[in-house]
Amino acid sequence: MECIFCKIAEGKLPADFVFKDGDVFAIRDAHPMAPTHILIIPRKHIPSLVELSGDPAGNGTSNSVLISKMVSTAVEVAEKVSLSKRGFRLVWNCRADGGQTVEHIHLHLLGGRQMKWPPG
Ligand code: AMP
Ligand code: ZN
Repeated sequence: MECIFCKIAEGKLPADFVFKDGDVFAIRDAHPMAPTHILIIPRKHIPSLVELSGDPAGNGTSNSVLISKMVSTAVEVAEKVSLSKRGFRLVWNCRADGGQTVEHIHLHLLGGRQMKWPPG
């Protein structure tokens, strides 16, 4: 399967890792949109949030636990890179209109500048 994030998870493509464990990893985005731009990515290949539904039993960490873990990992990484005090933004892009370009779910952690609202 040609998936950039699966390849990074398997060590077949290089990345700047900020965190990794058995379920998720965090890397610095190759094209940062803020002074700090980190992606939190599950090792499990799930194409988009639309494919998340259900918690397949006996198939490793359930998807709802995985999503919860991605959020808590993002918050821990934000603390580690000193974003907690000023704040940060977490973004999920989903499919074409959401601006998703890599079809393997990931959570963007952005910080180090004042974010705008509404987003573009
Ligand atoms: P999205 O547009 O929400 O699908 O986000 C995908 C993100 O992955 C973009 O911000 C890209 O800059 C980033 N990206 C793509 N390939 C790589 C890579 N090899 N290493 C790090 N970040 C990447
Ligand atoms: Zn993948």
